[in-house]
Amino acid sequence: LKANMVAVSIYAVIVATSEKWCGRAVKTTSALPIGDIFSDLTFRERYNDLLSRTGRDVLTGLYDRTRMELEAPIMIRETLREGQSATVMILDADHFKNVNDVFGHLQGDDVLRAISARLGSILRAGDRVFRFGGEEFVVVMPDTDATVAEKVAERIRAEIAQLPFAIGQEGKTIEVTVSVGVSSVLNGADTVAALMKRADVALYEAKSGGRNRVVAKAA
Ligand code: GH3
Ligand code: MG
Ligand code: MG
Repeated sequence: LKANMVAVSIYAVIVATSEKWCGRAVKTTSALPIGDIFSDLTFRERYNDLLSRTGRDVLTGLYDRTRMELEAPIMIRETLREGQSATVMILDADHFKNVNDVFGHLQGDDVLRAISARLGSILRAGDRVFRFGGEEFVVVMPDTDATVAEKVAERIRAEIAQLPFAIGQEGKTIEVTVSVGVSSVLNGADTVAALMKRADVALYEAKSGGRNRVVAKAA
């Protein structure tokens, strides 16, 4: 009898939790009087929502730096293991402090979102763009050698420089440029850290060389 009761209790707990987590019928009711946008969601929906935002940058919706540190080395190592080249690109918006100083931080935010969207539309499905921080972005491109990478980087630079960015409500636009550091690697002799470091050095050369340019560094 004791064993039966234990079994029934365990069964009840399993049913209760599975109902909650599978979202069947059970709607959570919030005790908060107003403004809880999650009050109509099941636990499963809340969980999925949180999961989809984990590792994302709130401003741009891009993957964030934490996600980059987890995923970039894996992406690069997998590519190298298959005998393909991998490329890392670091982009930094030029004189971005001026954009904020002249137009305000909210307009600066608009520009960062627009740069992110533009990157997303230029890159291929296998490429991944992360917001590294501030006005800096990292692009990891599997199966991409130095020649292709430089072309893509140049296309990104040119598109950002050519198309003005809409800011604010009054149809105002501004021009923004980016500097890009690119580094590619073909074999496993190079560490992921060394690859990133070279892209960073290349970016600094692009900045000191006058900005609005691409510098690529070979291993
Ligand atoms: P450089 O060409 O040398 O990169 O000059 P810079 O002005 O872009 O570089 P600096 O590092 O001096 O300034 C970066 C600026 O980017 C300053 C900072 O306020 C701005 N910034 C960083 N993150 C954000 C953000 O999330 N929103 C806005 N609006 N501005 C940001
Ligand atoms: Mg910067
Ligand atoms: Mg900058």
